[in-house]
Amino acid sequence: MPPEREADRISGAGERGVDFSMVGPTRTCVGCRKRAPASELIRFVAAACGDSFLLTADPGRRLPGRGAHLHPDPACFALAERRRAFGRALRLTGVPDAGPLAEHIRAVSMAARNA
Ligand SMILES: [Zn+2]
Repeated sequence: MPPEREADRISGAGERGVDFSMVGPTRTCVGCRKRAPASELIRFVAAACGDSFLLTADPGRRLPGRGAHLHPDPACFALAERRRAFGRALRLTGVPDAGPLAEHIRAVSMAARNA
């Protein structure tokens, strides 16, 4: 086989489909329930605040405790809130205060729109 043909065959094989091993870990958005690379989602955790919980975005992915993930999209946030998915994803009792998380998502989605 001529060397050129062999090179074509090899480079062609690399373009077929997507290699998911290159994407890294995937997580499920608690809003739309779609899986996405963890890097495209916002991690958030629940911080105890008296006898209730405060949802806090964790952009650095460093906060301890059980986390859940959401697209930085107000539509996904609204879906998750309507379905009470936050409390369920984080195994919380009661309805957490999602105010700080809502604020974060609004800021991130605005920044993305202006980029
Ligand atoms: Zn989503």
